[in-house]
Amino acid sequence: MSTMSKKVMKTVLALGLTAAAAAPVVRLPGVSAAEVTGTVVASTPAPAGTVPAAASTLPKVEVIATGGTIAGQSADATSFANYRAGTLLIADMVAELPDKDKIAQVSTYQFGNSGSSAYSIADLYDLSLRVDEALKTQDGVVVTSGTDTMEEIAYFLDLTVRSSKPVVVTGSMRPWTVIGSDAQANLYNAIKLAASGKTKYFGTVLMLNDEFHAAREVTKSNSYRTDTFVTPELGALGYIDEAGVRVYRAPQRALLSAANWTTPFDLAKIGKKDLAKVEIAYSYQDAGAGAIAAFVAGGADGIVTAGTGAGGISRAMSAERTAAIEDHGTIFVATTRTGSGSNYSSGKNIIAGDNLNAAHARLMLLLSLSFSQDFDTVKGWFETYGAAQVSVPEK
Ligand code: ASP
Repeated sequence: MSTMSKKVMKTVLALGLTAAAAAPVVRLPGVSAAEVTGTVVASTPAPAGTVPAAASTLPKVEVIATGGTIAGQSADATSFANYRAGTLLIADMVAELPDKDKIAQVSTYQFGNSGSSAYSIADLYDLSLRVDEALKTQDGVVVTSGTDTMEEIAYFLDLTVRSSKPVVVTGSMRPWTVIGSDAQANLYNAIKLAASGKTKYFGTVLMLNDEFHAAREVTKSNSYRTDTFVTPELGALGYIDEAGVRVYRAPQRALLSAANWTTPFDLAKIGKKDLAKVEIAYSYQDAGAGAIAAFVAGGADGIVTAGTGAGGISRAMSAERTAAIEDHGTIFVATTRTGSGSNYSSGKNIIAGDNLNAAHARLMLLLSLSFSQDFDTVKGWFETYGAAQVSVPEK
């Protein structure tokens, strides 16, 4: 184990994190260690962050850590896939990062230390409030997370954070402790991007592999490659090339006036118990009615269908959707499973998901139904805050 890793492991134990989080890398039979997730340590009190130089005029950036591969401890320096995600502490990782004091006054907050898929929507509610709390005093925030559900964490923040200051989500595909890891470079560049202020009013952006993407459109496209994040058809917003932070396009919401910029999803106005339950039903050749029936029986307030082609679903699914609408008033959003493209399938209690993928549409519907059960209101939110289309004001 490297000196850094020994030091980090000592801090993990000193902070009293769970044995699971501090445990050595264990390879479960039939499960790649990359899939092993630690335990959520929600809202762990912040360990003393990196204390910035007294009279620095550099922007203040807080790194809020949730775990993931970026905080991964590998079995050894060449174990790219055999590691325990969500193990190292962000204060130690930032302390190891060279030259960060030249780009920002960096502080840290250990929100949790786990794989991304271990977090509940209620945890994301807490995370969003914590980001806004930090932005009362900071110029920007970086959130570190696992990449598996990073697009969902980023889009949830995009839809809920009230501050217009930069929020940059990052992580890595290789653990912090292997040779050639992307972890250090991604963390450094995410801090640089947040400190640059260039994504103010962009909402949340996701930064990996020197590229940043709009949270609404970005998706993980590969299980292992370091260039896994893509924005289908539309491309990245920009790049980070050493000193240069190049912004080549802006998300639609950056064009909204400051007064219209925030979404209706102000989490301070609801409690966690108000968070709606929304599931995703995937369609395929001759798909059965079971998924929709089970979701309705399980109390889903809304269901997103990941349909074939332009959003079509099988006959059995379609009949079950009609029954759910008639008998339970369930609200549906239609999306495509193709990975890109617009969707126009609307109807009674059915909203077209436009070019949102199913996971993104699910969060948009979940937040909408947490604030209103009125179909027209929810549909209206999809057409404004959930939309990607750019409308240029009359000249
Ligand atoms: N299993 C990890 C997670 O999502 C993968 C990663 O961090 O990239 O937390």
